[in-house]
Amino acid sequence: MEGELLTTATQIWPDTKGHFGPYGGRYVPETLVAPLEELERAYEEARRDPNFQRELDSLLKNFAGRPTPLQFASRLTEHLGGPRIYIKREDLLHTGAHKINNCLGQGLLAVRMGKRRVIAETGAGQHGVATATVAARLGLACVVYMGTEDMERQRLNVFRMRLLGAEVVGVNSGSRTLKDAINEAMRDWVTNVRTTHYLLGSVLGAHPYPAMVRDFQRVIGVEARAQILEAEGHLPDLLVACVGGGSNAIGLFHAFLDDPNVKLLGVEAGGRGTTLGEHAARLAAAAGYSGARPGVLQGTYSYVLQTPDGQIAATHSVSAGLDYPAIGPEHAWLADRHRAEYTAVSDDAAVAAARTLARMEGIIPALESAHALAELIVRAPKMPRDSVVILNLSGRGDKDMEILARYL
Ligand SMILES: *Cc1c(COP(=O)(O)O)cnc(C)c1O
Repeated sequence: MEGELLTTATQIWPDTKGHFGPYGGRYVPETLVAPLEELERAYEEARRDPNFQRELDSLLKNFAGRPTPLQFASRLTEHLGGPRIYIKREDLLHTGAHKINNCLGQGLLAVRMGKRRVIAETGAGQHGVATATVAARLGLACVVYMGTEDMERQRLNVFRMRLLGAEVVGVNSGSRTLKDAINEAMRDWVTNVRTTHYLLGSVLGAHPYPAMVRDFQRVIGVEARAQILEAEGHLPDLLVACVGGGSNAIGLFHAFLDDPNVKLLGVEAGGRGTTLGEHAARLAAAAGYSGARPGVLQGTYSYVLQTPDGQIAATHSVSAGLDYPAIGPEHAWLADRHRAEYTAVSDDAAVAAARTLARMEGIIPALESAHALAELIVRAPKMPRDSVVILNLSGRGDKDMEILARYL
């Protein structure tokens, strides 16, 4: 499984300017153009360098715990009475989710660029913890920006980051949540760009982030493809993953993009309802979710939840990792071309699905991942019994115990 970062010839997206069809690109103030170009050059060199790939493979294997198993979910399969269901166990990785794949890639890239300091922003704290973990392993200074409201809600993750040696900076402006933390992180990067790498957590932001983060998560699908061929002797019929920014989903999908018979299904947060403000579903208009239109957020052009006059809309989800108003530009392009389908499920359905997986397979999933399962629970009974599905289990549910306890 060498050379995961080099994509095949037919997988040409994005173009040289970072566009996925009309989406993506680089919509940033002048001060960020040079740092982004420097990053793009460094990444282009790194992905072609076998030494970089070797070092990354070694960390993924010995530090993060790759390859992750592709588990046949026999009891869930029997329970739903539909397709043969396989679970890609990203929940078994160090720090409990797929985020570490990307953090290791960008951490190594920072070292290669001679930057001894990484910064990140975090909402629920999951990306902050993964970044702090990698920074400690690689001996990098680490500063994580977090809204003070979020710090209050996620005290345990703040403690984890500090234990790992990171500095957590509370942001007290605006709504004191993720978008204010993003602004502060941007300010830091502009000021300290010579020494600092901005470690972005999903397939969002200006070029080259969406393509680079995708490439670092691509290992999920590269492994799953080999594993399912070994187990079943043929490709799967359907891949299912939850979509926040979209990194675990594109990580699974990407190695299958050239296989037209493999259907791709992304599941967003349907929250409490289809009205704007009650959900975080950006590509699920067909399922009745309102308020998403193309627009620019955080440096990239994609679908964004917004009010009729263009203000970024409030969002809601029981799972913090899916609670974001924009989606990665490659997903918008896959949706436009009907290569992937997107839908959303409610908070209630996700919580019920988490409970089902716990009882059927002995796995407590992250509430994010439970969204993907919730949609599969609806569809599976209508699918042929000899069909094969891979469900991406992006993370484990330990972090969600308090929310689940309150909910149930
Ligand atoms: C952060 C997170 C997500 C959402 O992020 P993507 O970039 O859409 O993958 C999903 N699942 C888990 C467990 C997460 O921690």
